[in-house]
Amino acid sequence: MVELLFLLLPLAFYSGWRAARKSFDKNEQKNKQLSGHFVKGVNFLLNEEPDKALEVFLNYPDIDEYTAETYHLLGNMFRDRGEVDRALRVHQNLIGRSNLDSEQKQKAMFSLGKDYFAAGMLDRAESVFTELLNNKSLSKQILKESICDSLRTIYEQTQEWHKAIEATRCNNASKKRLSKDSANYNSLITHYYCELADAALSQGKLHEVAELMEKAKSADKNSTRIMCLEGDIAYHQKQYHKAFKQYLSVINHDSRLLGMLFDKLENCAQEVDTLPRLQKSLIKQYNKVKDKTLFEAILDYSKKYGGLEPIDKLIELELSDTKLNIESIYKASDYINTQKSTIDKEKGLMLMSKSLSNYLQGVPAFRCEHCGYKMHDYLWRCPACHHWDTIDHA
Ligand SMILES: [Zn+2]
Repeated sequence: MVELLFLLLPLAFYSGWRAARKSFDKNEQKNKQLSGHFVKGVNFLLNEEPDKALEVFLNYPDIDEYTAETYHLLGNMFRDRGEVDRALRVHQNLIGRSNLDSEQKQKAMFSLGKDYFAAGMLDRAESVFTELLNNKSLSKQILKESICDSLRTIYEQTQEWHKAIEATRCNNASKKRLSKDSANYNSLITHYYCELADAALSQGKLHEVAELMEKAKSADKNSTRIMCLEGDIAYHQKQYHKAFKQYLSVINHDSRLLGMLFDKLENCAQEVDTLPRLQKSLIKQYNKVKDKTLFEAILDYSKKYGGLEPIDKLIELELSDTKLNIESIYKASDYINTQKSTIDKEKGLMLMSKSLSNYLQGVPAFRCEHCGYKMHDYLWRCPACHHWDTIDHA
């Protein structure tokens, strides 16, 4: 896409130049000189000589409202191609032009902030965006929410969560938003408060944690992260029974989080002697949602604590009847090879073979080297990209 836009750039330059030319009808000689400059610059671009093109454009004497647009485009193209130094030079050059109006300069400043961000110069990006935000005569062309959003991204990187909350609020308040956007912003604010609460919890500042949690809840009371944090608070206070219950309800709510919470759940279960309950809960939840995270947690549990009967039955059933991923099959074989499994080796081998055969069903054997399209049978011509002789083993 970036390449396509880059190819369209000369066209944009040409229209910019045409518009500029109309405004200079009275000065034929000057027009000829200007058009010569543009053609030269465009030729360098087409020949993939961006530095030479840049020299021509940056030394172009008259940038006005018509041609400035194409300069913005040029700078943004460089940034999108990862050539941030060149993008910076274009936008700095635009800002330094005395004949541009403040709207164009603000636009160039906004782009400059994005260049700094792309170059990892977050301090400079922040000061450019803040200066724009504080500008009382901010151009209508630059949406306040775009600046707020850029600032928010910076503060996420620098982990300045209070400032990130402020930037999110400024964004949310800048315009009457769709309720979907608002929900998204509220969820961001909740995450930021939870980050702060996490940090306070690790320092043992429980009073501060409670305050931050209240603020997080007021932004999004249904957040799963808040549920997790409530478990963490109980865990931190060694209230293992409460933490265990809380973590289990998180898993029942979203089983993907089990990987993150398993160690803590296991510790709680050991502390309050509820390992069998953990096993039962994992099996119950797995049968409900069939999530591989849960199955793998069951296998980890079995390897550590032994195959209690309901677990071994479940593993047998899953190996023979379900299409598992390769990691789950590996973990299952690893478990069956331990003394803890009640599944005998011969039966285990048969189950492995069945499970691998389930896995291979539907796995495409061939793949196009050109576009990555996968297929079951060898073809001379790729049905996706239409290239010939590009099919190889997947
Ligand atoms: Zn292809």
